[in-house]
Amino acid sequence: MAQREKFVYRFDEGGKEMVDLLGGKGAGLAEMTKIGLNVPPGFTITTKACIAFLKNGGFPEGMMDQVMQALHDLENRVGRVFGDEKNPLLVSVRSGAPVSMPGMMDTVLNVGLNDSTVEGLAFMTDNRRFAMDAYRRLIQMFGEIVYGLPHEEFREKIEYVKKTRGYDEDRFTVQDLQGLIDQYAVIYRKHGKVFPQDPQTQLVESIKSVFNSWNSKRAVAYRKMNGIRDDMGTAVSIVAMVFGNMGDDSATGVAFTRDPNTGEKKVFAEYLTNAQGEDVVAGIRTPKYIDDMKNEMPQVYADLMKTCDILEHHYRDMQDIEFTVERGKLYLLQTRTGKRSARAAIRIAIDMIDEGIISEEEALMRITPSTFDRTMHPQVKTTGRETPLGKGLAASPGAASGMIVFSSERALEIGKTKKMILVRPETTADDVRGMAVCEGFLTQKGGMTSHAAVVARAMGKPAVVGVESMSVNANEKTLTIGGKKLREGDVVTIDGTSGYFYEGELPVEKPTIDEYSKRLLEIADRYRRLGIRANANTPEEAKIARENGAEGIGLARTERMFLGNDRIGIMRSMIMSETAEERKKYLDQLLPMQIHDFVEFFRTMEGYPVIIRLLDPPLHEFLPNKEDIIRQIYDINSGNGNRDDLPYLERLLKTVRDLEEFNPMLGFRGCRVGLVYPEIYDMQVRAIIEAAARVIDEGRVIYPEIMIPLVGHHNELKKIRARLEETARSVKNHEKVKYKFGTMIEIPRACVTADKIAQYADFFSFGTNDLTQMTFGYSRDDAEGKFMFFYLENGILESDPFSSVDRDGVGELMKMAVERGKKTKPDLEVGICGEQGGDPDTIEFCDEIGLDYVSASPHRIPVARLAAARSNIVRNRPEMDQVAKY
Ligand code: ADP
Ligand code: MG
Ligand code: MG
Repeated sequence: MAQREKFVYRFDEGGKEMVDLLGGKGAGLAEMTKIGLNVPPGFTITTKACIAFLKNGGFPEGMMDQVMQALHDLENRVGRVFGDEKNPLLVSVRSGAPVSMPGMMDTVLNVGLNDSTVEGLAFMTDNRRFAMDAYRRLIQMFGEIVYGLPHEEFREKIEYVKKTRGYDEDRFTVQDLQGLIDQYAVIYRKHGKVFPQDPQTQLVESIKSVFNSWNSKRAVAYRKMNGIRDDMGTAVSIVAMVFGNMGDDSATGVAFTRDPNTGEKKVFAEYLTNAQGEDVVAGIRTPKYIDDMKNEMPQVYADLMKTCDILEHHYRDMQDIEFTVERGKLYLLQTRTGKRSARAAIRIAIDMIDEGIISEEEALMRITPSTFDRTMHPQVKTTGRETPLGKGLAASPGAASGMIVFSSERALEIGKTKKMILVRPETTADDVRGMAVCEGFLTQKGGMTSHAAVVARAMGKPAVVGVESMSVNANEKTLTIGGKKLREGDVVTIDGTSGYFYEGELPVEKPTIDEYSKRLLEIADRYRRLGIRANANTPEEAKIARENGAEGIGLARTERMFLGNDRIGIMRSMIMSETAEERKKYLDQLLPMQIHDFVEFFRTMEGYPVIIRLLDPPLHEFLPNKEDIIRQIYDINSGNGNRDDLPYLERLLKTVRDLEEFNPMLGFRGCRVGLVYPEIYDMQVRAIIEAAARVIDEGRVIYPEIMIPLVGHHNELKKIRARLEETARSVKNHEKVKYKFGTMIEIPRACVTADKIAQYADFFSFGTNDLTQMTFGYSRDDAEGKFMFFYLENGILESDPFSSVDRDGVGELMKMAVERGKKTKPDLEVGICGEQGGDPDTIEFCDEIGLDYVSASPHRIPVARLAAARSNIVRNRPEMDQVAKY
């Protein structure tokens, strides 16, 4: 005969590792029992029994026998008998799934009471009022949960009595309670039901209904929202009742072992005296706080403090507990890992290192880069009293306030003069230009990979999407939610970190790195292998990067330096030049300006490497728009404007036309310009070497690195290097300057021929934006505005390759380039400077393939430091990936 399956575990038979079988609650109760905390005795029916029940529509064979046996055992321990008229045992029947689904499923308290056992309870406790209170609660809960009777009908009866008692349930008399019980019977009757007097029936029906609550509408919806599997089932824990409603020395409450909002090491509790179960959560009365307990019940307070301490050390984490005090004695009814804010998560991790509870590695592993990132975005500062207008998906972090507009055209009309939030049913490619002038986005439809979400993240603006409960009427220019109607011009505040949005302008808090975040990052620096550099185009950005902990500049673009008011004219004249001599004349004017820029840069990054990339964009990017020139010429010809400007404008127009390209992304740019017009790079290199020599003369140590963009063939680099080394040697004091010479790797061919290219490069830096564009054949701007969201939403791509390096394609090319490059030159320095360099998954990949550093935008540096440390920890100790993450 097959061995009988065990469906029922006493609390002293289970443990915390049995979460899948006993549910979180059951496993927690068992564990607390095991470590000697005061848990009322009980047992748990397994999730397997639930699954079988839901499948077959009945309890699995043998389950009820095991339940009855465990119940007898419980009777013996407590010294009371289930259904006994004189000395009745009461139990609670509690749901508890392997994954926490707060408030989604059901629990019935006081099971075992009926018209005669209630008398026994009254006699036994010498407290008739209490017994009646417990009974009316059972009838109500049982009615609501097992028969689905409407909560409001019960509530209505209570409210009626409350009015006569100064709105205080505490002052209900025995007669009041008896009256309620009679009224409840009327409610039952109205719905064709009767409260079952047989305790056994109560128990069986309660178990069934808890099992069934796994498939309740709200539970199913909750699982869908949170990506929780549907096949786990819930366990049922049957627990001997203890009573928080036995008088003023009794209470019920919940506690976090630390403050879940700030993380401060101070127990945070809310409790009610003379109350039962869910009264605290239901907000029926205003709860008291932990400091009240200290005065009111000093012994219980001391016990609670000790219990919290034991639990934290045992679970090595902050716990969220439920307790009841019966006549001055503390009972534990639940423990689980507590949810916490991002800031609290960081503070708790750091404090727990100091308290010797967890290791530094564990602390780093607990804090995900995205949690850390949340603390780095502006946040809505709520007092907790604001009622949000609604909630959607938190699609892009950050917070913003502004007047609402209902179309992109309208947003463009208003322009940057006002802060705006774009509200749409959903956004499409046509909205991108309008989105660019708005502070944030709010949409009715769409998920985390919808157009609005993808574009918002790419633009670094907050977005709340998929607010199903809101209806947006773009023609009428209104949004309606929860009976409220808002019009164009009304102000809202959206929180893309939480998904909430509010009416009016709420204060938005600037992000700060607090002392705990600082500590975490300092620790991270000791555990990472990868270097962290920054992409910075100005000395100001470089300063921020250093403050955030960057160890160098991985990419300083020089083109921005030519856009300043004093320079753009010279730059244009240089571009319009017809001979090399003429070009040189203008370049000579730019030279001192470039020297000045580089001096500043080198000073700011004293002691660290600075990679300067020579001119990269196509020259036409420095010229005005063709239509504008034509319009100016037209105006002059029709009598407006200065005729003397005509020759210049005509020449400008000719240059613009000459430089026009079919596909600028693949056009005349990067080293191609550098080869055809070598005077440009000559000037830049001269500026670098002169600036470096000057800063070295100031007594500073610097590490300049010169980088050539867009190399696809080693001959390009060979030729440029030869010439530029010559140029460098022609600079006075050049021998003081030790510099490196390298190239961006951003064309697939460069990856494939990296062995040859490495002959002429001291370093490689992956430009993953271009490499991704050219590997996929997508132009980034077109992809992100037009079809990326479709690809993501339809699962054609799993993630946006411009946010996170595509390991299978682009990543393989990178690997090849590293291998081939290092074969030629073992000490080749290799890094990444594409925008993906700040993305945690990309950082992990770069760590894996042996890059020396990643370079990210200055504000991403902190996240990058953390991500690099976590990656290194997991590479060396894969088991560390199991740590609970927040
Ligand atoms: P939820 O999962 O919704 O929190 P629980 O099963 O934890 O539901 O029950 C809710 C509350 O009911 C508990 O926090 C506790 O206050 C009360 N409760 C449950 N079982 C008992 C019991 N055996 N004795 C006293 N109170 C109980
Ligand atoms: Mg609970
Ligand atoms: Mg590039």
